[in-house]
Amino acid sequence: MRIIHKLNEMTETARGWLTGGSVGFVPTMGFLHAGHMSLVQAAKQDCEISIACIFVNPIQFDAQEDLVRYPRDLERDLQLLHDINIDVVFIPRAEDIYPANFSTYVIPSGSMMERLESLSSPVYVRGVATIITKLFQLVRPDVAYFGQKDAQKIAIVRKLVQDLNIDVTLRILPTVRDSDGLALSSQNYLLSPSERQAAPSLYRALLAAKSLIEQGERRPDVVSKAMTDSINSEPLLTLNYAAVCRSDTFDPINVIQPGTIFALAASIGSIRLVDNITWLENGQWLL
Ligand code: AMP
Repeated sequence: MRIIHKLNEMTETARGWLTGGSVGFVPTMGFLHAGHMSLVQAAKQDCEISIACIFVNPIQFDAQEDLVRYPRDLERDLQLLHDINIDVVFIPRAEDIYPANFSTYVIPSGSMMERLESLSSPVYVRGVATIITKLFQLVRPDVAYFGQKDAQKIAIVRKLVQDLNIDVTLRILPTVRDSDGLALSSQNYLLSPSERQAAPSLYRALLAAKSLIEQGERRPDVVSKAMTDSINSEPLLTLNYAAVCRSDTFDPINVIQPGTIFALAASIGSIRLVDNITWLENGQWLL
């Protein structure tokens, strides 16, 4: 396992990829869990060369305190990546990625970028789009892996890949959950025991929505209210949004049909959790 910190070493290495075969890339903010590892596993299976990045991206955080307390354990992450036999780990330094004179941001626009996460964070879309563009330039992957849990991140990456003609294939993998349904997240480790117990309410609210659909309910406002009520019934949770919208554009809908995403964000104390499920075009559910 090769560890690369320097940007010019990453660029040099990427220049040599062509001779080695296809490159599968997993961008992460570290503090790895089984959700991240499912992406790494897929990259290893699909591609000759597997590379993960660990970088806590400062420009996608609204509050400095959230950036500071983001969980980190590089030693443990490197052990996990070593154990799975990844080829390269890229760990750039924030001051190299964003030097003092940095001023070129990638800002996807359009209604899709104004929904879900953007409702609570003015910097999220710009932060994600900018770092992913930079990482794609540095790593030059053939395939990049993302988890379904972060639905808007996927939308942002799809958009920038299309608009900026970036030659990369995106592969999206299902959300990996704990046995009680809570979507794995590095932030879960910051929850107190009682908060951790309350956190699966997000998934329960999504399952309540699914159950309503299965009973024939098709009105988005009714399902959204059921999700809201379900979250509000847990005193430790504060709802940020309960969206029922088109899965490809996040546009509002009049009637729920296949191709609908049910997305939730809620805060527990100062931790923000997101989750979603999708009623796919083929009638199956992505849970
Ligand atoms: P993060 O470290 O939170 O930036 O996440 C890095 C990548 O892992 C993103 O593509 C996430 O969508 C993905 N990811 C995070 N949590 C999960 C999960 N529970 N299941 C699947 N993928 C995940």
